[in-house]
Amino acid sequence: MPAKSMEELVALCKRRGFIFQTNEIYGGLQGLFDYGPLGVELKNNLKQAWWRSMVYERDDVEGLDAAILTNPEVLKQSGHEETFTDPLVDCRSCNSRWRADHLEKSACPSCGSKDLTEPRPFNLMFKTNVGPIDDGSSFAYLRPETAQQTFTNFKNVVDSTSKSLPFGIAQIGKAFRNEVTPRNFIFRVREMEQMELEFFVKPGTDEEWHQFWVKNRLKWWSKQGVSEEKLDLYDVPNKELAHYSKSTIDIMYKFPHGLEELEGVANRTDFDLGSHTKNQSEFSIKAKVVKNSSSNAKLAIQDRETKEWIVPYVIEPAAGVDRGVLAVLNEAYEVQELEDGKERTVLSLKPHLSPIKAAVIPLKKNNEDLVSAAANLKGELQGLGLGRVLLENSGNIGKSYRRHDEVGTPLCITLDFQTLEDQTVTVRNRDSMEQERIHQKETSAYLQEILK
Ligand code: ATP
Repeated sequence: MPAKSMEELVALCKRRGFIFQTNEIYGGLQGLFDYGPLGVELKNNLKQAWWRSMVYERDDVEGLDAAILTNPEVLKQSGHEETFTDPLVDCRSCNSRWRADHLEKSACPSCGSKDLTEPRPFNLMFKTNVGPIDDGSSFAYLRPETAQQTFTNFKNVVDSTSKSLPFGIAQIGKAFRNEVTPRNFIFRVREMEQMELEFFVKPGTDEEWHQFWVKNRLKWWSKQGVSEEKLDLYDVPNKELAHYSKSTIDIMYKFPHGLEELEGVANRTDFDLGSHTKNQSEFSIKAKVVKNSSSNAKLAIQDRETKEWIVPYVIEPAAGVDRGVLAVLNEAYEVQELEDGKERTVLSLKPHLSPIKAAVIPLKKNNEDLVSAAANLKGELQGLGLGRVLLENSGNIGKSYRRHDEVGTPLCITLDFQTLEDQTVTVRNRDSMEQERIHQKETSAYLQEILK
């Protein structure tokens, strides 16, 4: 059963240290959240799973980690200065501000008034001053997407890796949008993280690759534990397409607050590389791009056989890390009624995403022999490099099991006095709650099997 409400997830996240409101002690800052001790592990695990599937499991994708502060010229040429806007309206009755396209029945969500101003474009990019003089003459944007930094590095990557088409560049990192109405917990925030692949293909093969990536991404989400019944595809109609897109398929997920975008898979054509290229007339750029006088780049690639220079088309699967974390938490959260009438909260995360992979628990708190044996076992399991293994010296086995169920730890290993005699331990499985006695030498293989 999925989470019943966003409130339940928010409460779990705070109680167990997944996600906190930022600067809470000062009243917070709207649209910003911090990932706590368990949240940072879950988030890193999700990013690693993406990186593994995009970079390590393919030989046609390279990684990149580019700067966040961006030369304004990049975002001017990319069209973001002019068109990266949301329609803003003011309510004349209560002075609140809203995104016109998010209103129901054109009424103010706060007071219900229909006395609203005409929508006007509001640019979502954050600006900041660069250098010591704050006179507005030297500023940079905080990138609104990781993609532009990938496009401006196109030539660097091609030249340093000798790639030929098709190939991709993957990047995970922060992006910033001054959202008019950040809301729904970490769903719509002003500082977010994205996992974006720019996959460069020969013009003409773009539609086929577009379909390929939509299917590939659906499969990946399902491997992260997102159930297929809660995913849907939305073929974005022309009038809603971003300025660079020929066609976009949004992967929608049934979040606790409704069906909304989890990831967008866009066919960005040759718009971006074309826009950042100087002598555009040398190439047959098909998209309508800005005439560029300030770049000195030739963001094209030479076909090895025909020797022709091509500005590739780009297929972009762009996923939000925060929305991904929210989706996997929502999928995994469950309050179960047990046979004895009691309840347990369990987070059935896919084990590769679990913040803690195994908890090693000595039966008696502070018993020197038990704690030392547990510390040795913890060290051994930690050394496997599978993620965090925790020594849980609380002395209350029942409580430890409940806590680890609630944070999604797939395996608890308990050491008792028999362990000191015959080196056997009790392993307890999070999902089935079954317990088994095995030799402690077998625990490594046991954990590896769970994480396969
Ligand atoms: P939306 O229509 O929901 O504002 P978008 O279409 O503007 O999203 P994209 O530009 O396609 O989003 O960005 C790619 C991905 O980045 C989105 O699918 C989403 O997962 C994530 N994302 C975008 N904006 C936000 C935000 N404000 N907070 C959290 N994640 C975001």
